[in-house]
Amino acid sequence: VAGYSAPVFSRAQVYRDKLAIVDDSGSHSYRDLYGSSRGLAGRIKAALDCPSGDLQGKRISFLCANDASYTVAQWASWMCGGTAVPLYREHPPSELEYIISDSQSSLLVAGQPYADTMEPLAHRLGLPYLQLPPTSSLSSLLEAPENQPEPGITDWAQRPAMIIYTSGTTGRPKGVLHTHSNIQAMVQGLVSEWGWSRDDVILHTLPLHHVHGIVNKLLCPLWVGATTVMLPTFQPQKVWEVLLSSKAPMVTVFMAVPTIYSKLIRHYEQHFTQPRVQDFVRAACKERIRLMVSGSSALPQPTLLRWEEITGHTLLERYGMTEIGMALSNPLKGPRIPGAVGVPLPGVEVRIVMTNATSTTIAEGNSRETQVRPGLEGKEGELMVRGDQVFTEYWNKPEATRESFTEDGWFKTGDTAVYKNGVYWIMGRTSVDIIKSGGYKISALEVERHLLAHPDITDVAVIGARDATWGQKVTAVVQLKRGQSMTLSELKTWAR
Ligand code: ATP
Ligand code: MG
Repeated sequence: VAGYSAPVFSRAQVYRDKLAIVDDSGSHSYRDLYGSSRGLAGRIKAALDCPSGDLQGKRISFLCANDASYTVAQWASWMCGGTAVPLYREHPPSELEYIISDSQSSLLVAGQPYADTMEPLAHRLGLPYLQLPPTSSLSSLLEAPENQPEPGITDWAQRPAMIIYTSGTTGRPKGVLHTHSNIQAMVQGLVSEWGWSRDDVILHTLPLHHVHGIVNKLLCPLWVGATTVMLPTFQPQKVWEVLLSSKAPMVTVFMAVPTIYSKLIRHYEQHFTQPRVQDFVRAACKERIRLMVSGSSALPQPTLLRWEEITGHTLLERYGMTEIGMALSNPLKGPRIPGAVGVPLPGVEVRIVMTNATSTTIAEGNSRETQVRPGLEGKEGELMVRGDQVFTEYWNKPEATRESFTEDGWFKTGDTAVYKNGVYWIMGRTSVDIIKSGGYKISALEVERHLLAHPDITDVAVIGARDATWGQKVTAVVQLKRGQSMTLSELKTWAR
């Protein structure tokens, strides 16, 4: 990754009338997105009483649907120099409030469907609040550019761009802070390695509060001037419909978590039973789609194999994490080894280190080569990562930040890996307190804490039980107070 160029939104000026996002409300060109974002940026500055200036150091929390409004809120936060804090609709109000307070946000922005959630929250927290128009009329935010001079920001590279909240093994979720240059490094590594071009069309069906949904599937296409087709939620039937549709823009790239592939397979088995239909599915996927990627948790081999039979595509499995973006990837061209996650992406350095007191380095490598300590090939250790795409800090948690890096600047992922036969393999977590379900990282300790708040529960252990669709399912072993009884559905209702 050679040098910093510019924040993602500034590239929109080059792509102008090219189609950027297609969602339920219609089509949005790069020019539309840029103009609406600029209009919103003006409103944000006005709301914070900063008419011409630079909102450096201010955080803006926003909750938007999976459509163009999300990008407008994100770009507007960046255009005025601030930091974007994406919220998600699956967060219950207590979680939203936690993220808004922990990030010390100065302003809340809500997409139209979330006004009822966000306005009362803003009121209670005493924060200014802006509501977006419906996504179909985002252009009502447009303002004449000469009225909205952008502050003359020159330090984009080091500027905090985004805080993403992620579960760790201890305490509440932590805010992972990425600068604009961290984001550029993440994007450029993927763009070059996965062959992104402006002719690509990606189908987007993932939550927008993880690097998978935000960076891999949205910022990469926006960076190169490609088109993103966004669905409001994941529905297997709808995804198949779009993947197989011959209507422009035709999908060329798809990425998802293993749970989604497994649900798409189930839908196929149930509904596409005729050989004629099956032939059509295979031909359509093979001819039109150039790349299908899986990540966020281990891809089960049966899913990989069945998907290959159905679509003719060998899923490209890669490995990443909120703190580091994508680190390891199978090749775009060349053999993809089932169960392995390939080699480091450009700009990424990795190490496998023994977790005992010796901290011996077992293997160390980059995108070109890996060196293994003689006699240690195939030995397990903790995966560590270094590079421009690695996050800057856990927001407001210097202690946690310090503990997560080695003295010489390697980020400790907490994942166990081996290097064998020329590629890396992820073996699991070094700690069992993180459960991976449907690509989500869930802290077992956090669930335990909630269950222990029930007056009839005296003790609890939360574990991840293996599951074919979800990877792992959250499972609780509960001890009740002597003489008390409880059904599973009572406990579920209470927990919900
Ligand atoms: P990702 O899509 O890579 O999960 P994210 O922002 O959603 O990015 P997190 O929610 O932080 O990431 O989860 C990262 C964790 O997911 C990793 O530490 C690892 O345990 C697990 N993980 C991600 N990809 C893989 C993979 N291909 N195989 C096994 N585990 C994976
Ligand atoms: Mg994830």
